[in-house]
Order: sequence, then C-alpha cells, then structure tokens
Amino acid sequence: MNNAAPIRNDWTVAEVQALFDQPFNDLLFQAQTVHRQHFNPNEVQVSTLLSIKTGACPEDCKYCPQSGHYNTGLEKERLLQVEKVIEKAKQAKASGSTRFCMGAAWKHPADKDMPYVVEMVKQVKALGLETCMTLGMLTEDKAEQLADAGLDYYNHNLDTSPEFYDKIITTRSFQDRLDTLSNVRNSGMKICSGGILGMGETATDRIGLLRQLANMDVQPESVPINMLVKVKGTPLENVDDLDPLDFIRTIAVARIMMPASHVRLSAGREKMSDEMQSMAFFAGANSIFYGECLLTTPNPETHRDLQLFKRLGINPEQRIEEDDQAQEAAIINTLQKQQDSSHFYEA
Ligand code: SF4
Repeated sequence: MNNAAPIRNDWTVAEVQALFDQPFNDLLFQAQTVHRQHFNPNEVQVSTLLSIKTGACPEDCKYCPQSGHYNTGLEKERLLQVEKVIEKAKQAKASGSTRFCMGAAWKHPADKDMPYVVEMVKQVKALGLETCMTLGMLTEDKAEQLADAGLDYYNHNLDTSPEFYDKIITTRSFQDRLDTLSNVRNSGMKICSGGILGMGETATDRIGLLRQLANMDVQPESVPINMLVKVKGTPLENVDDLDPLDFIRTIAVARIMMPASHVRLSAGREKMSDEMQSMAFFAGANSIFYGECLLTTPNPETHRDLQLFKRLGINPEQRIEEDDQAQEAAIINTLQKQQDSSHFYEA
C-alpha cells in the first residue's frame, strides 16, 4: 500500500520505550494512522474459539485454570468427537464467524490424537471456514501433518518477555516456544502469537514481549493481546490490576510495530467496558473472539458484541470469498435469535 509504514524486524528497546512514552493522544493518533494504512478501520475480524479438550494440562502456566497443577474446580473433558466439533463449527459459521479456532490443553499432541485433529481440520475447512489450532508444542513432523491437512493458523503464545517467563511457567522454556513457532512457520502455516498483560510484569517486560513478536523474521499474522483473567485457585488470582490505559497503550504500540498483523483483543474482554473496548479498536485492535466462552473463561455475550459493533459502525471483516450479504444476514439473524437464549460454547 502507498505510504504505508514499513514492516520492521529490528526494533530496539529505546525505540519501543519512546513509543510508550509518548503522550496518550499522540500514541493513539500514530497507531490509528498506521492502522489505516493497512486495514479498513471500521472492520474487525471475528473468530470463534472452541475448547476441544479441557483441563488436566501437565504444564504449570500460572494464569491458567486448565493446568493440572492448580485446583480451580474446572470440569475436565476428553478430546471432543469430530462430529461434535463440526456441529459447533457450523453454528459458528451461521453466527458470522470467519475463523474457527480449536484449543486443546496439552503439552503437545500425542501421536494417537493426530488422526482426530487432522480430521477436524479437514472437515472444518470444508465448511469454508479458516482454521486455527492451539495444541501446545509442535515438532517439525506434527506441524507438517497439520499444514498438509490444510490448517491455516497455529496459535502458540509467547505469553510474556523472556526475562519474566520463568516466573509464569517452569515446565517448558521460552526457547521451546520459539522452536514451536519456527516449526509452524517452516511448515507454511500462519502464526498466531501474542501474550498476556496484567500478570505482574513490568513495563520493560511488555516492551520485551512486543520486541520478540515484532522482530521475528516474519511477524505473526495474528497477535492476541490478552488481559489476565484472574481465576480463583491459580497462583495469579490476587495479582494487582493493570492500569487499563497501559493495556490500551500496549495495543497501540503493538499496532505500530506490527502494522500488517491482526491485533486481537482476546481474553479479559468480559471485564472491559464498551468504552474500553472501543478505545482498543481505536488503538488498532481489529480482531476479537466471538462466542460466550474463551476456552474456559467468560467472553462477552455475542449479542453484546454485535450491539457494540452497531453502535460503533464496525462491520465484521469478510473473507474474500465470503458473500457479504450472506454473512451480514447471518449476523443479524444471530442478533435476533439471541436476545434471551443461552449461547453455545459451554466448553
Ligand atoms: S495455558 Fe495451555 S499449556 Fe498452559 S496450562 Fe493452560 S492449557 Fe496448559
């Protein structure tokens, strides 16, 4: 695109610090300017996330209710049957989602599980949805298998800076995460990778996280920025709140550093006011999860999202091959049907 900000992979700490140090309005203006060079500012991409295997994870991520190391009262579920997943994917498509993300609480997928997840990818893809999975660490071979099945995106978050990482997770290293991302990239899949804010990290850690993401040889196509959801029973249940304006600043800096990536407003939206979410969109967030549950934490009810979109004049981003009118009709239909219904995604 003409006059678009270049995509850089050599951000220094001082440069990122300087972005954060700007007056808030200057930062947001810069982020919005960059955003408009690459995206329609009035469109937000909509994904649905389904937990295909819940709880009893051997990893010890201190924020996560699915870790088997903590007692959070979460009900465990085995790997869902392929048919069940496809049923949910159809519902997601009918509700206007363009991407269907499937998450499993594993350290890594076991050999015996691969045929099932491969089948899920093939069948969801056949519905005309983009596919994304998050299954833990991937070897080169497993990444290839998923890519061959047609998986579009693989999610594997860096979570935080390399320096703060071992305060949050001890069962695998930061390097393990980078290795998985490298296997994903080499297999030809797109990368979805971001982090979580509000875990007690410093401002320097937030800079470190964004530098790790932006300075990859090819930046992640999708960058989820999560606000910690403090879950009772996890070690982070009583951590201090992050200033919401620091959250917005981080979104804005992510937008400037990764101008062509979708920056996703992810976990933690439930606790955000409509005004805060609107400010995040202005700062350059242009993707959300849609549906009542984000894996196992609450997500704003779908109709609240649709009403907010309407108030802001935001349209769901279309896939090129999608029929605009059909998708719009699906969204309106959902809004009408959901005034008082309990929605899907109990996972
Ligand atoms: S974040 Fe993922 S890897 Fe970590 S404990 Fe939760 S489910 Fe397991």
